[in-house]
Amino acid sequence: MFCPKCGKETKEKGLCIDCFLKRYPIEIKEITLPICKCGRYLYHGNWNLNIEGSLKRIVRENLVLPSETKMSDLEIKSKFEGNKIILEIHISGRYKNERFKEEILAEIKIQSKTCPTCSRIFGGYYEAVLQFRTDFDPRKMIDPEFISKMERVQGGFDLCLTSSNYAKKISKDFNKKGFLVKESTKLVGIKKGKALHRLFISIKSPKFRVGDFLEYRDKILQILELGKSVRCKDIKKRKMLMMPLPKLQRARLIAKSRDVRKAMVSSIAPNEIQLLDLKSYKTFELGGNFEGLRQRDEVEYLRIGRDVYLV
Ligand SMILES: [Zn+2]
Ligand SMILES: [Zn+2]
Repeated sequence: MFCPKCGKETKEKGLCIDCFLKRYPIEIKEITLPICKCGRYLYHGNWNLNIEGSLKRIVRENLVLPSETKMSDLEIKSKFEGNKIILEIHISGRYKNERFKEEILAEIKIQSKTCPTCSRIFGGYYEAVLQFRTDFDPRKMIDPEFISKMERVQGGFDLCLTSSNYAKKISKDFNKKGFLVKESTKLVGIKKGKALHRLFISIKSPKFRVGDFLEYRDKILQILELGKSVRCKDIKKRKMLMMPLPKLQRARLIAKSRDVRKAMVSSIAPNEIQLLDLKSYKTFELGGNFEGLRQRDEVEYLRIGRDVYLV
C-alpha cells in the first residue's frame, strides 16, 4: 500500500504517519499557571509545591492528540524564561500499526500571584490601598487572594492589597466603568537604604448616572454612557459628543432621567411646533426648526425653568 499524499510505502491504507501528523498535528492547549514567589503554583484550584516535578503531568493533561493516535511515552525538557516556561515535548506513540516519535515546542505562561500561605506569612503586608468611596461593598469585585485587610471608613471602604499591579488593574477597570480614579503614593519607610512607597488609589462613584442631565458651561448634556470618556447628548444642539469624565465632575446636575416627560406633536409650523403633554394634556409651543418631526409623533422633553428641550 502507498500513502496517497507522498507515495511512500505503508502497511495500511491511508496516509503515512508523516503526512498524517502534518495534517493532524499534536497540539497543546494554552496553559497559564499562577505561580507564587515561594514556588507554589495553582493548578485545578490547588496550590502545590514542586512545579518541575509536575510539569509532565500538566503537559500530559493538556496535550491534544488526533484520535487515531495513542501516546506510549512522554518526555519533556523545560526551561524558565521570564514569565514563561519553554517546553520541549517528546512524544512516542502509535498510529495504526506504526510507531512514531514526535517533538513539539510549547510554552506555559506564568502569572505571578501570592499563594494563601504567603499571604498569611506576610499577614498585614500590603503594597497598595484602594480607597473606595462608593455606596457598595467592593469586596465581591476583588480577588480575595490579594486582600490583606479591609476597613470600613466614613464614606466607603479601604482595601489593602498585596499587589500594587493588581490594584492598578482594578482601578483601571473601575475607571473604564465611569468611576473617578486618583492615584498617589506615600513614603512609608526606608528598608535597606531604599525608600518604601505605598500606592493609594481612590475610587469614587460619579455624581451622576446614565440618563441624568448636567449643565456644563452653556451646554445641557444628557449622560448616555459612562466611561473614562462619557458619551453625552448636547440637548440644545441635539448632537452627540464625548466628554472626559473629570471635566464633567465640575458640571452641575440639573435634572434626572425621571424628569423627562412625554408629549405628542399636535401641530407643526415652519419655525415652531406645538406639543401636547401626555400626562397633563396641556399644550405648549416650542420654537425652532425640528426637521423630521411629524404631527402625532411622540417625543420626550425636558423642562428646565422656563425652557423646554426635546431629548
Ligand atoms: Zn505520506
Ligand atoms: Zn507562596
